[in-house]
Amino acid sequence: MFVQLDNIDHAGHDHGAASRAYLDAIHTADAQVGQIVAAVTSRPAYASEDWLILVTADHGHTDAGGHGGSTLAERQTFLIASGAGLAPGSVRHDVKMPDVAVSALAHLGIAIYPAWNLDGRPVQQPTADDFDNTTYYRHESPQKGEVQVSYDDGTPVTVKIYTADVPSRTETLTLQVPSGARTARVRFRYTAGNNWYWVIDGVRLTRS
Ligand SMILES: [Zn+2]
Repeated sequence: MFVQLDNIDHAGHDHGAASRAYLDAIHTADAQVGQIVAAVTSRPAYASEDWLILVTADHGHTDAGGHGGSTLAERQTFLIASGAGLAPGSVRHDVKMPDVAVSALAHLGIAIYPAWNLDGRPVQQPTADDFDNTTYYRHESPQKGEVQVSYDDGTPVTVKIYTADVPSRTETLTLQVPSGARTARVRFRYTAGNNWYWVIDGVRLTRS
C-alpha cells in the first residue's frame, strides 16, 4: 500500500517551512499516519502477518517556502521504519533516500537485480561500515580536497577537486592509465585552515 499525504507540501508552498501552518500540517499528517498504523495493527490476523511500515518525505522546504534546490533544508529528510528486524526506538544515520524503494522490494522478497541500477540498500540489512554514518561534508571556506594519482612514482596529477558542500555519496573516478604503467598511487590531499574534515572509505579499484 502506498499513501501520499501532500498537505505538508502545500503548507510549505503557501506559508514556508518556518510557519505555524507548516507545523500544523505536520501534526495533522502525523495523526493520519497514526490512524493508518492503528488500522493495520488492529487487523484480526495482524499477529501472524509480516508488515514493514515506512514513513518518509521526498524533500523539505526553504523557510520562505519552495523546494527543488540543493540546500540542506530542501534535501535533508528522514525515513521512519517499523517492522521485523528493526529495533524499536533505535536511531540510525546510515539510511538514505534511495534505501526506501529497495527496502520495500526486499520486504516483498523481490530479488534486486544489478541491471536495475538501484543504489539504495535495504534498511533491514544495516551496513557494517561505520563511515556510512557520516551524512554530510559541510564546506567552510577556504577548503579544498583533491584526489591525485601518480603512476610509477611520477608527478601526481589531480583528477578531482572538491570545494563545496557534499552529501555523503559514492564517487566513481575513471582514470586514463598511461600505457606501460606498472603501479598507481592514489592520494587524497586536503588543504584547510580549520578543523573541519572529510572522510573517504570503501575505496575500490576496478579495471575495464
Ligand atoms: Zn512541492
